[in-house]
This record gives sequence, C-alpha cells and structure tokens, in this order.
Amino acid sequence: MERVYNFSAGPSMLPFAVLKQAQEEFVCYGDSGMSVMEMSHRSQVFEKILEKAKSDLRTLMHIPENYHILFLQGGGSTQFAMVPLNLMSKNKKADYIITGQWAKKAAEEASRYGEVHIVASSADTNFDRIPEFSASDLSLDADYVYITLNNTIYGTRWHALPDTGDIPLVGDMSSSILSEEIDITKFGLLFAGAQKNLGPAGVTVVIVRDDLLGNAMDFTPTMLRYDIHAKNNSLYNTPPTYGIYFMGRVFEWLLAQGGVAQIQKRNEEKAALLYDFLDHSKLFRGTVVAKDRSLMNVPFVLPTEELNQEFLALAKENGLVNLKGHRTVGGMRASIYNAMPKEGVAALVALMQRFEQTHQ
Ligand SMILES: *Cc1c(COP(=O)(O)O)cnc(C)c1O
Repeated sequence: MERVYNFSAGPSMLPFAVLKQAQEEFVCYGDSGMSVMEMSHRSQVFEKILEKAKSDLRTLMHIPENYHILFLQGGGSTQFAMVPLNLMSKNKKADYIITGQWAKKAAEEASRYGEVHIVASSADTNFDRIPEFSASDLSLDADYVYITLNNTIYGTRWHALPDTGDIPLVGDMSSSILSEEIDITKFGLLFAGAQKNLGPAGVTVVIVRDDLLGNAMDFTPTMLRYDIHAKNNSLYNTPPTYGIYFMGRVFEWLLAQGGVAQIQKRNEEKAALLYDFLDHSKLFRGTVVAKDRSLMNVPFVLPTEELNQEFLALAKENGLVNLKGHRTVGGMRASIYNAMPKEGVAALVALMQRFEQTHQ
C-alpha cells in the first residue's frame, strides 16, 4: 500500500527520509552488530548517539550553555506534575494562562501542589484565541508563569511572549518545538513530548535553566526530579533509547534542511496555503481569530455536520487521512507539522476547492 498524507495531531507524520534511514539501520546500527534497541544505554555507541542528539538540538534551538537538555519519559502530561513539584517550591504559587485543554490539565495538576492563579482564560470563546491580559494581572510572588505555546486542539499559538520580568516563564511546546525560531532565554523551562514534531512517542525533551534545579519539594519522587536527571545526563535509569536515536536522526534531517529558520519559512508557506483558502472560501471556515493562528494545527468547519462527514470521507478516499477535528471543536483539523510536505497541504487545499465547487 502507498503511504498517505497523515494529518494526525499526534502521533503524526515523520520525515520519510528518516523512516527509511531508520529502516536501514534497524537490525544493525553502524558497526555495532546490533540494533539500537538492543544496546546498553551505558555503552559508548549509545552515549555517542545521546550526545550527538543533545548537541544537535542545542545548535538547532540556539540553547545557551546554562540550560540543561534532558531526555525523559512520561510524555507532556508527566511534565504537568514535574513542573510544580520542582519549581513551585518557594512561594508555593504559580500563574497559569488557560489557552486550551492542555493548559487546563497542567493547571489542575499544579493545584495539587500549591496555589494556582489563573491569570486569563479564553474558555468563554471555546479557546479560539490567546486571551488578553496586562502585566499587572500577573502575581508578583509566583514561582513561575506557565503557558502552552501552541494549542494543538484549538489551533492557536502565542505570537508574542508575556513579559514576566524575573519570574521564570515555563512553556509547553509539545506541538510546536522546532517549527519556528524562539528565544530560549525568555524561558526558565520548556518541554515537549516527541510524538508531534520530534519522533516516536516515548521520549520527552526538557530544556531547563541551571538556576531552577535543586529546589524540588521534599516528597518529589526521585524519577520526577530534574536535578537528578541533569546530574546523570539523562542516564539516571534506562532512558527511551530508541526514541532518542530516532529523534537524533530527525535533528540531523532538520539541520540538513537548513535548520529551524528554513523549516519555519516552509511551515509559514504551508499554513498560508490553508489560511488563504479559508479566508476566501464561501463554504469552509477557520475557527480561530486570525491574529492567533497556529502554524501547526489548522481547525476548520463546514456549515453542517453532514458536509463535515462527507468531506472527511472524500478526503480519506483521496489519501488525506486523520483530518477529523477534536470533539470539542468539531469539523476538521489539519495538523501540518514539520514532516508534512508542502505537497500534502496543496493536495488538501485542492480537494477543498473541488468540494466547494461541487457544493455551491
Ligand atoms: C499532546 C500534547 C500534550 C500531551 O502529551 P502526552 O505526551 O500525550 O502526555 C501536552 N501538551 C500539548 C500542547 C500537546 O499537544
């Protein structure tokens, strides 16, 4: 069977070239005589894989030396607990901005460990935007301010970061890591699960500033302490070795594409294809206010549920799959991460055009 254009929100498409390379290396990696899955995480071969992945990510994201890069397990959701357990330990307070379900879940988890202050929320408008607020709405004594950079379900993204002064900014970038350039120094901590833009599910990247380590609450399980993982170079226990290897190959692929600046340009072109069509369509409609649109997840709807279903079925017949929107938004959602080629987006827009012409 031929490969399809997979618009899944996650796990999602991976670069074809990397899949092929991984296939070639699957049974026997280099001259090791074994698969990466079979080797000791303490072997020299694996340590090289880990170090290369780390240094390539540092290059790609311009991560300064005073930030640690950790490769952990447990997905984005485990970070919802790790962030408060490790950082909410001085004043036991944190500020959260609620831009969707992931931010809400993170805030709920944090409220088990301390006082959570909701600075702003766009729940009233079904998260179709990043809510407005002023710097004076932030707590002066928060241990950190928490945002979700790209809202996977609703298709919004932060274009400008809030100025939190000396208070560390924490960002969930699970669905936008390496999709556009960001200034790491604006953050105290960033994290991302792998299965949207990095590789197979199972590895989680955490980028954390030195000075935020070592303040975990007393009862924090050892495995949930950033300082333990930092001290042990992500090798405190067996890390997700195959995931780290695969992600490393994705980093190399990104570097070969010209790095994040080039990928961002391509992502902007891809997103523009869809948004331009939606802005001019008489039938399809985007669900997000224009200024806050995501580059990665594009939700849109047709006037009736029957039309949504008809379009989804037609798309599937044409090899454009997993376009069904999240149940809280309905309609369709095209997730167009780094690995989605421009041709895939063009094929989707062409089908939407055809659908519109035949449904006047
Ligand atoms: C997918 C996602 C998560 C959850 O990730 P898991 O790895 O499934 O725990 C968290 N935040 C955002 C923004 C996501 O897109």
